[in-house]
Amino acid sequence: MKYSLSLLLTTLFCLNSSVAAAFVYQSHATDQQSPLSDYLVRHWETRDGLPHNSVNEIIQDDKGYLWLATWQGPARFNGRRFDIYDNLRETGLPDIGMYTAAYSHCDGSVYVGGSRGGIARFYDGRWKTLQSAPPFVNHLYTDDNCNLWVSTSELGLLVYKNNQRTAQFTTEHGLNSMFVYESIVDSQGNLWAATNKGLQVKKAGEASFQAVATVPNQLITALLELDDGSLLIGTEQGLYQQTSDPVQFERMLPEVTSRISTLFQSPDNGLWLGTYRDGLIRISEHGIEKFGTEQGLPNNHVLDIIQDKEGSFWVSTHGGLVQFRDTLFSTYTKDDGLTGNYIRALAENKEGDIIVGSSNGAAIIKKSGISALAPGSVLTEQSILSLAYDHKQQLYIGTYTDGLYIWDGAQIVSHFDSENLLKTDEVRQIELDPKLGVFLATPLGITHLYKNSEGTWASQQISQEHGLTNNYTTSLYLDQRGTLWAGSARGVVSIDVISQKEKFDYRITPVDLTELNDAELAFHITGRSGYIWMATDRGLIVHHLNNDSWQIFNRDQGLPFDNFMSVAFDGDGNLWLGSNRGPVMVEHDSFTQVLKGQASKLDFQRFSEVDGLASAQINTGGPSMLQAQNGNIWLATSNGVSQVDPKTITEIGNIPPDVNIESVKADGETVIFGEELSAKTDRIVFEFVAPGYLMAEQIDYQVRLVGFDKDWVNKNSLNSVEYTTLPADDYVLQVRARYPGGQWSQPDYFAFRQSAHFWMRPWFWIFSSLVVALLALIAVRVRLNQHNRTRLRLEQMVKEKTADLETMARQDPLTNLGNRRAFDERLQHELNRCRRDGTYLSLAILDVDYFKEVNDTYLHTVGDKVLIRLAEVLRDEIRDIDYVARWGGEEFAVLITHSELEVAKEASERLRERIAATPFKDLVEDMKITVSIGVASSYHYADHAGLLVAADQALYQAKSAGRNRIESKP
Ligand code: GH3
Ligand code: MG
Ligand code: MG
Repeated sequence: MKYSLSLLLTTLFCLNSSVAAAFVYQSHATDQQSPLSDYLVRHWETRDGLPHNSVNEIIQDDKGYLWLATWQGPARFNGRRFDIYDNLRETGLPDIGMYTAAYSHCDGSVYVGGSRGGIARFYDGRWKTLQSAPPFVNHLYTDDNCNLWVSTSELGLLVYKNNQRTAQFTTEHGLNSMFVYESIVDSQGNLWAATNKGLQVKKAGEASFQAVATVPNQLITALLELDDGSLLIGTEQGLYQQTSDPVQFERMLPEVTSRISTLFQSPDNGLWLGTYRDGLIRISEHGIEKFGTEQGLPNNHVLDIIQDKEGSFWVSTHGGLVQFRDTLFSTYTKDDGLTGNYIRALAENKEGDIIVGSSNGAAIIKKSGISALAPGSVLTEQSILSLAYDHKQQLYIGTYTDGLYIWDGAQIVSHFDSENLLKTDEVRQIELDPKLGVFLATPLGITHLYKNSEGTWASQQISQEHGLTNNYTTSLYLDQRGTLWAGSARGVVSIDVISQKEKFDYRITPVDLTELNDAELAFHITGRSGYIWMATDRGLIVHHLNNDSWQIFNRDQGLPFDNFMSVAFDGDGNLWLGSNRGPVMVEHDSFTQVLKGQASKLDFQRFSEVDGLASAQINTGGPSMLQAQNGNIWLATSNGVSQVDPKTITEIGNIPPDVNIESVKADGETVIFGEELSAKTDRIVFEFVAPGYLMAEQIDYQVRLVGFDKDWVNKNSLNSVEYTTLPADDYVLQVRARYPGGQWSQPDYFAFRQSAHFWMRPWFWIFSSLVVALLALIAVRVRLNQHNRTRLRLEQMVKEKTADLETMARQDPLTNLGNRRAFDERLQHELNRCRRDGTYLSLAILDVDYFKEVNDTYLHTVGDKVLIRLAEVLRDEIRDIDYVARWGGEEFAVLITHSELEVAKEASERLRERIAATPFKDLVEDMKITVSIGVASSYHYADHAGLLVAADQALYQAKSAGRNRIESKP
């Protein structure tokens, strides 16, 4: 429901407080807006990295960063870190104290201004100053035409275009003061100036300002154009709103008498007022709400209010920065009307009201409010352990010390305790069936209550004597086939309840859990879609009724822990597990895949206090998790009851945060986009961040270096990545981000080129050939003209230079082994020789096993060191007449001369064993490196290409056969 704010204001204007309450209730059903007290409030101050606790103004740029104007300089916030720009040499500002900020959508500039009249612009990662406006800049504002409006303390109103000052409005243009506090251009093109002597307007097309007489001739502290085009102003005594005559204003909301410091209207039609002394005031469908230090605001002097792109509200105060975020969970406690905060049991009636059983009586949550369930009755004092409705809408209430009550909605109709049909007064869980009656889980076994043929209550006790594994019964669930599942302090049993004349027989079958998880305690059992789900102290047991199979969900399936108190399903079919370390949600598709054997790991989300829970401890009880008819999940915690709509969880995941590559450094030097890195570059480091403020600490990242990585590499919450000694090539680094379980953002990317060493480039070869030729020429000349020694020396020089160049082009710089080119030449040479001599050689290709994991788990530098060590081992192990080269990447080739296949295989096996035994302790404790080897002989494959292919195929076989082994062809 959307309605014009002015209408709302007029409505509120005429309302007295009791009518206002009714008004709130009516609009509740359709509203998307939460009451102010329902927002999760987070707070940052200097000890969290904020440069100063007075944040004078907040803006958000298009990349998602929040910029803060503080007395200790401008600061940029990404949800996790504040970057503070307090170095005057960097910003060029005359002083660090910043009072105001503005963002230009024209080119993405951020402007800040304040003390000594300094104005600076942040653009493309750098600061530049604009002509200053001393002694003080009160306000910066950018309009749709890319003008920057600067309200000053002595120079009137200044206009900058393209960062040059282009105009100045002063008393000569009719302004009543040179002190302009704030200015805006409205959608009609009228220019409004708030001065220390009242409100001034220069109407579109007119040359000079006129005064607005209907507002006080005092400091005007805030200007805001509302959605409906009317102007709202804040003064030292409250609000004034424009009427149909643009220069006529009238007092709005006379009950608001606070000094107004700032104004903000949200798209959902909430009007937010910041005040100097009275904190925050919001006017919305919920009426007038005040939020000050008593409600958790750090300071009652509010400086600025904005809403970010994700919908959070940001309020700055003299006591730091505050975020108002819609929480996933709404929580109700004693403050809201519950009778106690330690909640153990929940139930829902036909009307959708939730009954909350606490250690201190029962309460009912209705749409209209929360109250005690049965005021004045004994139920208000009982410690409640369990709740259940029967098919006639009678509520069964199990207590800790007083047995079972039945409540018909108006009064207690029955009460059973140890003196009357029960064995004990402690009733931990209740299971009801229209035909079979009532089953109660108690520390002395299961009590079965039923009405006999005369219609009077009777009871039978099921205990260890009848075959229970333990009397201490904690959970009960009756499945559709009429089998009663009971969890106790020693596992689970299934009970067939057999109705006899005037009594029941029970056939009890213990479930053997020794092979599955050896669970002791089964806290809660439920059924859904043909499965029985049991929350135990060793994980969730899932039993498929149709094919009698059993599965277990625990740490092995990726869950964060094993101890679950309760299990439930929400309206979207997601699985919820209650634990004393927060509820865990597994999405429907994820657990279905695991059940079907199509996936091995569960995708879960775990929630805690930052998501709006007052306590993350879900209690045991009967039941402590409830799926309501509307699909929401309710949780009984050690501090109140919390509710969540599963759709809001997926909504957050559906809006991924923007991700930005913030810095790229090669060997410590900043790299610019598209730059060519020198061949000597050793290490390139990327830092990135996704400015997201909903679950900033939980944002996941993935990176992919196109040209190097085949797939995205998980970084989890780590927001940097580094690469070392990249081969010469063109690369693009891609980074993407998401909220846990949500969708990935569009990637941000950074392109660069790693250049080759000069001796690897064609021009160098041409040039050096010329030099060699020239030297040769000189040598000839010298031979002709000078004596022998000089000639010899020069010839020697030529030779050495050529040899050097050749070595460089044939050597792998990392391992100093020969490279592929060198190997090819050597192989060809040796093959020719074999042909002449009638001998044979063998070729072994080695590939390091799972080397990618070495790089991914440790650093790339570690990977490099492993390669260097392997090269040393290989060089050491081979015979002098053999030859080893780096074949490429993490592959090596060994030429075994004068050897037929069998000998070569033995030699390769020695290499494999030697490598598997090589210690890498000094690099990483416990790291083991193995290789797979493919061997082929020139006896079978006489030509160069055929031999290589055969060895490669053998290598492939070695990999498929399990790695760390050798294979040969044929
Ligand atoms: P396997 O061979 O057992 O199938 O698994 P693998 O993980 O070794 O897979 P693959 O051969 O596809 O990956 C080779 C990896 O070696 C890719 C690359 O990250 C890494 N690599 C290649 N050259 C270098 C290098 O010079 N230094 C480092 N540190 N890593 C390299
Ligand atoms: Mg490989
Ligand atoms: Mg490999």
